Amino acid sequence: MSERLVIIGSGPAGWTAAIYAARAELRPLVFEGAITEENRIAGTLPLGQLSLTTEVENFPGWPAGDLEHYLNHAIAPARRGLMAPHGHEGVSGPELMELMRQQAANFGARIVTDDIAKVDFSRRPFKLFPLAGEPLEADCVIVATGARANYLGLPSEEAFKNRGVSACAVCDGALPRFRNKPLVVIGGGDSAVEEATYLSKFASRVYLVHRRDELRASKIMADRAKNDPKIEIVWNHALAEVLGDEKQGVSGVRLAHTGHGETQERAAAGVFLAIGHTPNTSFLNGQLELTSKKYVRWTVPFRTNTSVEGVFAAGDVADDYYRQAVTAAGTGCMAALDAERWLAHGGH
Ligand code: NAP
Repeated sequence: MSERLVIIGSGPAGWTAAIYAARAELRPLVFEGAITEENRIAGTLPLGQLSLTTEVENFPGWPAGDLEHYLNHAIAPARRGLMAPHGHEGVSGPELMELMRQQAANFGARIVTDDIAKVDFSRRPFKLFPLAGEPLEADCVIVATGARANYLGLPSEEAFKNRGVSACAVCDGALPRFRNKPLVVIGGGDSAVEEATYLSKFASRVYLVHRRDELRASKIMADRAKNDPKIEIVWNHALAEVLGDEKQGVSGVRLAHTGHGETQERAAAGVFLAIGHTPNTSFLNGQLELTSKKYVRWTVPFRTNTSVEGVFAAGDVADDYYRQAVTAAGTGCMAALDAERWLAHGGH
């Protein structure tokens, strides 16, 4: 028997779609992703990119600061014992994701801890091929597989992943190995500036290495980096090699000038890549129309429709512009409503 609605992905978009679809009694089946070494290295484990962050300060309803104080103020005394455990530092990314997952499960969403490795959208019901489980059919699908951070693809970068090389400053920046040491951030966009600014709290110095002589980041962010005494921008350079050894991990970088090619070495305990993201769309194998950057294309303005009728997309997998937890959740809600209406009209 074919599933009515399958949701692929378990970030804010996937869970919000699941919450709405479950409340609409569609009994969605959520493929939250597989827990594999490949997914860990690629940054595509269940619960999405938010599970790789620390405090989330901008998700509405979760104020930063003393959460206990806010909750005591906002929630009647009789209800306080029912609240999730909370502390003094706002909500963390992993906590927020666990709460969303629970919220979906409470309304009856069924959850499978597996990837969808392949799809066949050429006819209905659609066919989905999990990595480990048996193939299944679905009347309607919501793709919410998000995006992952890019790496340069250098062998030395690969060799030192998790031993000083990272693509997520907020996940790893506070680790003891990086404290009071010089660190390197590669990139010139808002993410690179944000990561450099964040790392400057822990590092002795941050080298922001950019391949051009002008930052891509917005002016306000760029000014923040330029005015931070701990950040030094190294213009017109690319990462040629991550230096280090087996025992201590990263000890420095070799940088190459993007014009004349001359190289220089700098001591550093960590290298943080902030060179953009890649959407997790390869499992679609060309069956949905993608943008030039390989994001799923939304084909109807203000809707989550894709090029295949009955397949909807939500969150970062279809959005390289806003990329926020709350916008992903918003489009997750939209996708569930679009799917519900499409199914209610007999799937057309
Ligand atoms: P991005 O804007 O695409 O910037 C990527 C940066 O990495 C660019 O500076 C690019 O250099 C560089 N780069 C790309 N490939 C490279 C390579 N192979 N070698 C060296 N450098 C490379 O990506 P992003 O910074 O992740 O931002 C993505 C979106 O999220 C943007 O719309 C951004 O505004 C938004 N965002 C906003 C905030 C915020 O407002 N707080 C924070 C983070 C992200 P070039 O400049 O030479 O192309």
